Amino acid sequence: MNFVEERIAKDGVIKSGNVLKVDSFLNHQMDVDFIDRIGREFYKGFSCKPINKILTIEASGIAIAYAAARHFNVPVVFAKKSRSVNISGDTYVSEVESFTHKKKNMVVVSKRFLNETDHILIVDDFLANGCALQGLCSIADSAHAHVEGIGIVIEKGFQIGGQVIRNLGYDLQSLSIVEAMDESTGEIVFRNQK
Ligand code: 5GP
Repeated sequence: MNFVEERIAKDGVIKSGNVLKVDSFLNHQMDVDFIDRIGREFYKGFSCKPINKILTIEASGIAIAYAAARHFNVPVVFAKKSRSVNISGDTYVSEVESFTHKKKNMVVVSKRFLNETDHILIVDDFLANGCALQGLCSIADSAHAHVEGIGIVIEKGFQIGGQVIRNLGYDLQSLSIVEAMDESTGEIVFRNQK
């Protein structure tokens, strides 16, 4: 097991509805050494690409994006969630359905911070059905920015998102892929990625 899988096995909690809680170290209380290490791993995976910006979605993606950006020495842009959008033409907008809250949000990025000269790495904490990533990719497309790669901390391989994103041709690298998880026994099985 790699360090992400080990930490999930130790501290992850399986909830009903295919939800894995990792709020003791990743997205509520944050273990900064662990998140630093995630940033380093994303740098290792994508340092061969000409990345000049990291794109993520608030809120859980921000710390991960920051940790990666320290290594690439580039800025982070995070898409903001909003129930309503002022269609003034100065933002890129996409609709994203939240996996955990089941409600739709508009996500927006200012046109000042993303354009056709950008080569971006998209990062997020989880990949489930792929709605959040597709929203971010659509914003990148609207900006004519080039998506160099996508880095995910925890992909849930039994949900459709990973397959959808890979079939679209993106270079998707997940630090862990949960193949199966059992709420009654607490057992988590990871995909062997070697
Ligand atoms: P997707 O859009 O791929 O269906 O879901 C990804 C988003 O939903 C992520 O940004 C993440 O915040 C949230 N998410 C999806 N699955 C889980 C999960 O099992 N646990 C937690 N904590 N968040 C999840």
